[in-house]
Amino acid sequence: MDKVIFLDRDGVINVDLLGDYIKHWDEFRFEEGALDALKKLTEAGYKIIVISNQAGIGDGIFAEDSLWEIHRRMLGELEKNGAQIYAAYYCLHGKESGCKCRKPETGLFEQAARTLKFDREKTFFVGDKATDIEAGIRFGLKTIFVRTGHGKNDENKLAGSVTPDYRFNCLSDALAVLV
Ligand SMILES: [Mg+2]
Ligand SMILES: [Zn+2]
Repeated sequence: MDKVIFLDRDGVINVDLLGDYIKHWDEFRFEEGALDALKKLTEAGYKIIVISNQAGIGDGIFAEDSLWEIHRRMLGELEKNGAQIYAAYYCLHGKESGCKCRKPETGLFEQAARTLKFDREKTFFVGDKATDIEAGIRFGLKTIFVRTGHGKNDENKLAGSVTPDYRFNCLSDALAVLV
């Protein structure tokens, strides 16, 4: 079995621009404590998998090249800080595309599951939106909701079947149940 953790990107790893996409590297800022949290997850032996909706590409707001440039530079910064991302799965489809990978659909997790072996019931997904929690639960994962990014606004959408296993103020605080 692989020791896997799934993380949303915007609002978990980096500051979400709330209402805009990260279109250039100069708009990318790590969330407070996230670099260190990712280092600790790496040191704890996790294969860290990014699961991120980037509909701005499908909707023609920014180019796919920009996403991969941001991705490459994010990995570079992480590596400098002793943290490693094992893989990243991005949904590049537009918001109204009806694709099967845009969260709360589970297609990105299914892609990851093709190459990794993990016990869904013991594997976490950390996200800052109710749709992250919904996707994680649909796929059978444990879920952690963080109040960074959209978290402050989305917390009141958590109810009924969309209730996370844990809630924390940020990724760094979530380490309490992860390492
Ligand atoms: Mg997010
Ligand atoms: Zn998609």
